[in-house]
Amino acid sequence: MEYTKQEIIRLVEEEDVEFIRLQFTDMFGTLKNVAITSSQLEKALDNKCMFDGSSIEGFVRIEESDMYLYPDLKSFTIFPWKPQQGKVARLICDVYKADRTPFEGDPRYILRRAINEASEMGYTFNVGPECEFFLFNTDNNGAPTTESFDMAGYFDLGPVDLGEEVRRDMVLNLEEMGFEIEASHHEVAPAQHEIDFKYEEAMHTADNIMTFKLAVKSIAKRHGMCATFMPKPKFGVCGSGMHINMSLFKDGKNAFEDSSDRHGLSKIAYHFIAGIMEHMKGMTAITNPLVNSYKRLVPGFEAPTYIAWSATNRSPLIRIPAAHGSSTRIELRCPDPTGNPYLVLAVCLAAGLDGIKRELTPKGEVCCNIFELTEEEQKELGIESLPCNLMDAITEMEKSEFVQEVLGNHTGTKYLKAKKKEWQEYITQVSGWEIDQYLSKY
Ligand code: ADP
Ligand code: GLU
Ligand code: MG
Ligand code: MG
Repeated sequence: MEYTKQEIIRLVEEEDVEFIRLQFTDMFGTLKNVAITSSQLEKALDNKCMFDGSSIEGFVRIEESDMYLYPDLKSFTIFPWKPQQGKVARLICDVYKADRTPFEGDPRYILRRAINEASEMGYTFNVGPECEFFLFNTDNNGAPTTESFDMAGYFDLGPVDLGEEVRRDMVLNLEEMGFEIEASHHEVAPAQHEIDFKYEEAMHTADNIMTFKLAVKSIAKRHGMCATFMPKPKFGVCGSGMHINMSLFKDGKNAFEDSSDRHGLSKIAYHFIAGIMEHMKGMTAITNPLVNSYKRLVPGFEAPTYIAWSATNRSPLIRIPAAHGSSTRIELRCPDPTGNPYLVLAVCLAAGLDGIKRELTPKGEVCCNIFELTEEEQKELGIESLPCNLMDAITEMEKSEFVQEVLGNHTGTKYLKAKKKEWQEYITQVSGWEIDQYLSKY
């Protein structure tokens, strides 16, 4: 919804809004905010609210720490799960430096740069995500666990599906905030759920993903449960992905559509697929950012491990859903919901555009279940693997000048440094598995 400053001031008064949260996202996709009371609203809408950027992950040094928040007026929303007297609203903000120029480390700025490039080529980038998550019990102290009494599976319903009521509450709250919910269902693993909302232009979708995660976690908490987007919280069952459905529109029409093609795809769509495949290894540290992300990307759990595409099979990285017309799209299956959505969409779009500019063609479609191919057959078909762990992904990202350029020097450098530290911390831990396997045996 488009609002003017005056309309927001009037809404805040009429709706009895007491607190307004000025929100932004750090480098690792964590939502941050500073709350103001309605008395400060006018100042905030005039871009005069400052904060200390030196305490935010991946932002700036202490010497240059004063930063401004510029609210995006379109993003004004009231949180329906908060008290309805003295309500709480939010505005998503762009981050500016003290000299009033955009901060190059702001994830929204990085996505906007890629969107501007698309728009110079005449394209609008539309994205629809499929966010999966687990709903677990909390213990007597309210702390999250990985336990649940739910034993339901794919598309089950109550009373077997113990999350049904919580999911219903999530859907209703999200609808009240303007989300168009297309579907919600129990996923394959016990206690695993999915809620799908309608695609939008990329910046709007990235904002929506941030809001979605906040709403899902807040409403689970209200029901005494814990919602987690951790990619693989449990060994031996499916992990949680966030498939990204993408298309480019030109002059109001889906530029990925061509009904004369076997799969209903245009040349532009094939170039886009080829661009993603070309840059995928370098992008994986962004789409799958955690040590834990790589425990999801293993065979047997509907998550991809190979860089290939298919219209018929769900095992490869890129799937072409059967829907045609305005719904013609490609589905990228590796991202998980812990990626910073602004950075994920920025690298996906830039890679796709690069494929279009260079007129790349994707290697042949893989029609069989890739997991059933032998290593030799894979080699013959030229099918490469995704990075197999975070360190492998970091090394690939470091090699990719393309990804570093999309992120910009500031974020590219800081991201790699932080992820290397995370890997070092992880790799020197002694895990329960090692104790179980080795302690008594040796
Ligand atoms: P799946 O086939 O993997 O189960 P879903 O039906 O769960 O996919 O999700 C489809 C997603 O794709 C939704 O978010 C939907 O809005 C989105 N979508 C539909 N058409 C387009 C399009 N043209 N461009 C981008 N996303 C689209
Ligand atoms: N949970 C699966 C994953 O990790 C995806 C299941 C599906 O196709 O919806 O990607
Ligand atoms: Mg799913
Ligand atoms: Mg999907």
